Amino acid sequence: MPYYRDAFNRVELSKKAVILQHCLTADKCAARFSKNDGLICKKCMQCRCGEIHVLCEELGLQFYIFPSANFTGRLAVRKDIAAAIGVACDYEIQRGIKSTRIRGNGVHLSSRRLIPQVIMAARYDCIDNDVDWEKLKKMIVSAAKGAL
Ligand code: SF4
Repeated sequence: MPYYRDAFNRVELSKKAVILQHCLTADKCAARFSKNDGLICKKCMQCRCGEIHVLCEELGLQFYIFPSANFTGRLAVRKDIAAAIGVACDYEIQRGIKSTRIRGNGVHLSSRRLIPQVIMAARYDCIDNDVDWEKLKKMIVSAAKGAL
């Protein structure tokens, strides 16, 4: 079982979030940047982040697109996020997490501010990235039920 799954499931719904990275957005993304909220997706549906945004609204999870890794930590504090589903490439994981080993069942953190559940991005590409969107949607639905 992936690390932290039980702890993630125990977090109340309003404190769970889906936090995606900007490299998943379309070239002509209609989102505007907010210092507090990151990229505010307009659900223009040029990319699948819009679909995920709608799903999160329907299920009651918070939804954000972050412009940088440092932004996410501050966001978690400001928005009272205790657990988050995210997409990360192996480079970001290795850069951002201290004393970490990536194993078959996930990433074990030496310290953490929020409980993560992560799907790997398709590649290391800060401009045009991709992810298994169907797997992400399944995770979100399960997370909303507290049954990841
Ligand atoms: S759906 Fe949202 S994130 Fe995707 S391109 Fe449109 S505004 Fe940007």
